[in-house]
Amino acid sequence: MFQRPQHLMTRFAKGRKVVFWEEPVPGPAEEAPRLNSRTCPDSGVLVITPVLADGGTAEERDAQLKALLDGFLEGNESDLIRWYYTPMMLSFSRHVEAVCTVYDCMDELANFKFAPPELTILERELMTASDVVFTGGYSLWEAKRDRHPNIHPFPSSVDRAHFAKARTQRDAPEDMAGIPWPRFGFYGVVDERMDLELLAKLADARPEWSLCIVGPVVKIDPADLPQRPNLHYLGGKGYEDLPRYLGSWDVALMPFAINESTRFISPTKTPEYLAGGRPVVSTPIVDVVRHYGDLEAVKVASTADEFIAACDQALALSRIKGDWLKAVDVMLAALSWDETFTRMNAEIARAVGQREQAAADSLGQTGVAAPAVRAASRNKPFDYLIVGAGFAGSVLAERLSTQLGKRVLLVDRRPHVGGNAYDEKDAAGVLMHKYGPHIFHTNSDEVAGYLSQFTKWRPYEHRVLGCVKGGLLVPVPINRTTLNTLYGLHLQTDEDAAAYLASRAEPVEKIKTSEDVVVSAVGRELYETFFRGYTRKQWGMDPSELDKSVTARVPTRTNTDDRYFTDKFQNMPLDGYTRMFENMLDQKGITIELGVDFEDVRADTVYDHLIFTGPVDEYFDHRYGKLPYRSLAFEHKTLDQEWFQPVGTVNYPEEGVPYTRISEYKHLTGQSSKQTTITYEYPRADGDPYYPVPRPENQALYKKYEALALETPNVHFVGRLATYRYYNMDQVVGQALATFRRIAEREGRSVIAAQSAARAIAAN
Ligand code: FAD
Ligand code: UDP
Repeated sequence: MFQRPQHLMTRFAKGRKVVFWEEPVPGPAEEAPRLNSRTCPDSGVLVITPVLADGGTAEERDAQLKALLDGFLEGNESDLIRWYYTPMMLSFSRHVEAVCTVYDCMDELANFKFAPPELTILERELMTASDVVFTGGYSLWEAKRDRHPNIHPFPSSVDRAHFAKARTQRDAPEDMAGIPWPRFGFYGVVDERMDLELLAKLADARPEWSLCIVGPVVKIDPADLPQRPNLHYLGGKGYEDLPRYLGSWDVALMPFAINESTRFISPTKTPEYLAGGRPVVSTPIVDVVRHYGDLEAVKVASTADEFIAACDQALALSRIKGDWLKAVDVMLAALSWDETFTRMNAEIARAVGQREQAAADSLGQTGVAAPAVRAASRNKPFDYLIVGAGFAGSVLAERLSTQLGKRVLLVDRRPHVGGNAYDEKDAAGVLMHKYGPHIFHTNSDEVAGYLSQFTKWRPYEHRVLGCVKGGLLVPVPINRTTLNTLYGLHLQTDEDAAAYLASRAEPVEKIKTSEDVVVSAVGRELYETFFRGYTRKQWGMDPSELDKSVTARVPTRTNTDDRYFTDKFQNMPLDGYTRMFENMLDQKGITIELGVDFEDVRADTVYDHLIFTGPVDEYFDHRYGKLPYRSLAFEHKTLDQEWFQPVGTVNYPEEGVPYTRISEYKHLTGQSSKQTTITYEYPRADGDPYYPVPRPENQALYKKYEALALETPNVHFVGRLATYRYYNMDQVVGQALATFRRIAEREGRSVIAAQSAARAIAAN
């Protein structure tokens, strides 16, 4: 097997010594415990296999393993990173001192067949002991994210070049030779996660097809495997051979059982099969649907009949060289184990840094961690030129200057910092948002924690009412109160509301557009009342022409929760956004020039690196044509009355009303004043670019710019306009912090070393 751990270990082994400690194997009864070891020839990873005599209690075996481990580590203890793939190994290694402990959680192991009962308790201990936790997929991350403050989803990646060999391979494996076409194949472990009944039904329904199963049979009795003339079990094969097998099949299969043991899997074989150019038929594994469900090449089917029909479709697809494969390649272009490794490595460097800092703080040595300044850049005016002082640019300016000691020039063509989140007091003294209402909300502890360094917060939960049917004000998102008020109903429970919505919802086979999302959840009438007009005004096109992600931002609820957002952190910066930005940017290494366009400084400023947060197509002179952005005109009014409307925002979905919403800032800011300021938003095609327009063709055009961006050395593109993503503020902060980590990672070791050195000097 060559899977996630092997991909990662191979990469880590390029810069570090990597030791892989295996499960013990049984040895002769009379022999003392010992270690076998071998070095992998390609990677240099050292594999240690303990050999223990059979028998003994769990405690005795742990004591033996602990003694072996201690013996092995003697003299090798410094700078040790402990990396766990199973909590079970904690029982003999919990005492080992490490600069960092990592838990790469690949699955909900407790749901596996024969899972030991103590696993859950040990996992809890491992979570506490770990400095950083990675999960093998998003579903797993969602399930575990409350269990650790520093946990990150890392879905499996793919070695594209390796599997792409399947597309051109001529050299079919010998044991495939006599097997008739068409061929459907699976490779991977055959265990309780495979739906054997489904496999049998497929074999029976299509006797003319061949089903080829490659992989070891584990934990289940081989006698329980269905036997059919067209079902071929070929046994386990090496990673090297997989593309040859894949290349000799028409369609790849993932006939997983849908149960507890597959709830959190994120099968690596999905991108591998796709990289091999094969259409895939899968049962509805949550992460497969989530990440790949939109691809034509991936058919998801629940029942045996649907699965068979999906195999028919996939087989037909495999015979045409169409757009389906292009779409696959666009999607896979973003995946690489190198990138996964780099990001994990950066998280580790950060965790190590935090530990060192904490240790230094506890010794009363705070403030000595001098940032590293590279001597080579001393004679240059700026290390970084950052274009745009919104969230993307400002976060990076702060991080680069305070953490890496970089000298940063930050420019913005506007006369202020803060980008679209800029706020100011108007003539009446009311704090208002110049570019429309900005409400801060996030589920990310990292983002909230980061910004909290620069502001105190005011708790605020945003509420929105929709003005419908000529003047009725009802909660948005649609909830039980909305339904009861609109239709004079008396729905009492979530179940009542769910049943009511289900009775109106129109089934949509594949949810693709912004119309599908809503119509399939609430039916056509509510869709027309709340979404159609609003969206046509806001985007200048019908919801059926927009990607589903747009209206999916606004959920439907069956309870009476009338908050617009449900994130765990919902607060406004106590003294406003602009003050927060000022605090963030008040750093020795940052020079700010406002009212200055990139073009004004591009030629005559000396800098090593550029961070660009404006529109990506503008940077490249619209080489491939203009990326569409939607704009707004804002009409701000100050009224001589204390309040204008009952909540922060009232939406006007009716098409006859020219604006989409009115917002009243005092609700957001908590300010008291005899006057009040409100903003009307009028959507526009022309004007400042505010919204990327999520549509497949725009995404395709963006991908061309993205490819150019990736090829442009020493330039990072960050933020809503530069990465053409409909991002909220917190997502942009998260993206900027991630970019920073990648930059720091490239210099990470020297930074940590410099900090340690500075501390050592101070200590002496
Ligand atoms: P921006 O804030 O757009 O900053 C980019 C900066 O770059 C700008 O100041 C621009 O002047 C400058 N620039 C561009 N090109 C150049 C150039 N060539 N030379 C010099 N300077 C240049 N998010 C939320 O989380 N909650 C909300 O409630 C919310 N409400 C929103 C309401 C509206 C009306 C809009 C439009 C957005 C809203 N957002 C909200 C999204 C939020 O504004 C963005 O996610 C965030 O501001 C993006 O930050 P950024 O740094 O990527 O871009
Ligand atoms: N939307 C709608 N009616 C509403 C609220 C939202 O049709 O009452 C749709 C509309 O297409 C909008 C999208 O949902 O652009 C996302 O709404 P959100 O409030 O998140 O927009 P933003 O605050 O980003 O402008």
